[in-house]
Amino acid sequence: MRLFNLIITKVLPFLPKWFAKPFAKSYVAGETFDEALKKVRELNERGFKATLDILGEHINHPEEAKKITAQYCLLYDKIDEASLDCSISVKPTHIGLSISQNEAIANMTKIANKACDLGNFLRIDMENSKYTDQTLEILNECRNLYENVGVAIQAYLYRSENDIDNFSNNHFNLRICKGIYNEPEKIAYKNYDDIQNNFLLLAKKVALKGGFCGYATHDLFLIDRLLEWINEEKIPSNLFEFQVLYGVPMGNKLDELIKKGFSVRVYVPFGPDWFDYSIRRLKENPNLVGYVLSNLIKS
Ligand SMILES: Cc1cc2nc3c(=O)[nH]c(=O)nc-3n(C[C@H](O)[C@H](O)[C@H](O)COP(=O)(O)OP(=O)(O)OC[C@H]3O[C@@H](n4cnc5c(N)ncnc54)[C@H](O)[C@@H]3O)c2cc1C
Repeated sequence: MRLFNLIITKVLPFLPKWFAKPFAKSYVAGETFDEALKKVRELNERGFKATLDILGEHINHPEEAKKITAQYCLLYDKIDEASLDCSISVKPTHIGLSISQNEAIANMTKIANKACDLGNFLRIDMENSKYTDQTLEILNECRNLYENVGVAIQAYLYRSENDIDNFSNNHFNLRICKGIYNEPEKIAYKNYDDIQNNFLLLAKKVALKGGFCGYATHDLFLIDRLLEWINEEKIPSNLFEFQVLYGVPMGNKLDELIKKGFSVRVYVPFGPDWFDYSIRRLKENPNLVGYVLSNLIKS
């Protein structure tokens, strides 16, 4: 079965898009605002917070970057109108970082301004290491104007501990994740244990500095270590939340966390550019092919 799942995952990118749609459905909340907002409403009703992401990256035309910026601003309005518990996550290259840093700063501050007006929050996703310095500079530019902006920090990068040291105490908001890009050994841990250890170290560092931290992981072992430490050190519950990607199977873990009174935020991607994202997710977990096929057969 494992081999079959792997083969399907390998050939899927070369098949027509309609063939991949049942697989994408598990990870993507539809193509339109309405579909995504409906999913967020359902998550909120089950006790989860959410963060919405319009799928896409590496936009190369300023006009297109501005159009996407306007969509993000409109999305904040829709979230507000529907009274949803939902922030927004934005990839810097989706709003112009591959064109120029100034383009990305202009667009990101526009989005941050909208979030601030509506009392919402903006999370800046972290992309590959080519963009780390620029992304932190974009964050600083936004933070000079608005407080309600935070960034993601990747536990696989050696530099991340130092990056956290550079945040002044209190009033900062980070998402710690392992990191999803294939980075060279000279700048990134490659070993599973080293990445886990660094994740824990970074999480502890954020708490020590009084910052807010989103623990973005599906790694059940890591979640349990975080829970032990939160319990031992009595980390105040207003200083952290757990975060997961929409559709990643977690057994009962998320409901357990909610039952225990912890905050859990689900990252909900959507939009017409669902294809590449879904293929990336499937490559991370080819077992999902089996789940989707058996659901299709049952339905
Ligand atoms: C809310 C959120 C936001 C993120 N934002 C960023 C970001 O801004 N920048 C960045 O570089 N990375 C980001 N990531 C991705 C992250 O860096 C990891 O690559 C990803 O979460 C896998 O690592 P893991 O901690 O879940 O542990 P792993 O050890 O990789 O996974 C633990 C278990 O979960 C399963 N699993 C993990 N991910 C998936 C998946 N996508 N589909 C199916 N099964 C899966 C694995 O098969 C394994 O069983 C984000 C992740 C989350 C949850």
